[in-house]
Amino acid sequence: MQNNTELLSIIIPFYNEQEVITECQNRLSAAVKNIDMNVEMIYINDGSQDNTLNILTELLTTDPRIKIIDLSRNFGKEIAMTAGIDAAKGDAVIVIDADLQDPPELISDMITKWREGFDVVYAKRVERKGESFTKKLTASLFYKLINKISDTEIPENVGDFRLMSRQAVNALNEVRERKRFMKGLFAWIGFPQTAIEYSRDPRFAGETNWNYGKLIKFAVEGISSFTQEPLRLATYAGFITALGAFLFGFYFVIKTLIFGEAVQGFTTLITVILFFSGVQLLSIGILGEYVGHMFIESKQRPLYFVKKTYSSTN
Ligand code: UDP
Ligand code: MG
Repeated sequence: MQNNTELLSIIIPFYNEQEVITECQNRLSAAVKNIDMNVEMIYINDGSQDNTLNILTELLTTDPRIKIIDLSRNFGKEIAMTAGIDAAKGDAVIVIDADLQDPPELISDMITKWREGFDVVYAKRVERKGESFTKKLTASLFYKLINKISDTEIPENVGDFRLMSRQAVNALNEVRERKRFMKGLFAWIGFPQTAIEYSRDPRFAGETNWNYGKLIKFAVEGISSFTQEPLRLATYAGFITALGAFLFGFYFVIKTLIFGEAVQGFTTLITVILFFSGVQLLSIGILGEYVGHMFIESKQRPLYFVKKTYSSTN
């Protein structure tokens, strides 16, 4: 029994995770057994269509440390985590996935680092088991790109599994932007941060909710939420192509003046038209991405709605 009154909040988002809940709860309980802190477990049901909510509410009867937040629909992992972080009362707050890809056994190491004075302790994967070569490659390229063009240094090979101090959580709670690229926000708030390394396991059961379409969307949102560099890219591209077009035009005027006019050059013409249309569409697309952000933000909608909360005290 601990004699410490500090509270640790553990937040887990659940979306169609019926196969993993029991194992997740067992591993987590075992991992926090010897921790000298009070524990609350905040489980978010992110609009699951399977039995997730029922299984979670059953757990409630066996473990009074559990609180369940049932969201009104599926809002996505980033918002689900935010709902949990909002509700957390802990002096330290940990976010972890339900699928046991991130080992809960690291929690005690994270707490040690937190006691050393770090405000954010994130878990860094040194190895990704069960993930394809292309996924690793594209992930690595994404981090290289975003770190090159954005001022916020986002650590590579880091998931959302991390511990935050109360101070860091309060800071994060002030950031209410709707497109929540959490990895970026965690880094953006600053405060002393450190990593602990581990090797990532494959999913315990069930399937990942990610696919390449979603990952690309995620990457585009991440980049456009954290840097205006792509907008500048459009400007540079416009500038360079305009310069090219000017030189090209100049060349043709001189050529016509000296050698006379001959109706030729269809290939050149079509290439130039296609090239410029491409550049223009790309630039409009980039612009649209940012206008889209403004559109979403300007509506000022709440981030999520809670349908019901459950805890053993009510
Ligand atoms: N998740 C969620 N809402 C969603 C998708 C996922 O709350 O719309 C949760 C999911 O239940 C899990 C975590 O987010 O706890 C990570 O999901 P997943 O394992 O599918 O992602 P990956 O590990 O492949 O990044
Ligand atoms: Mg996973």
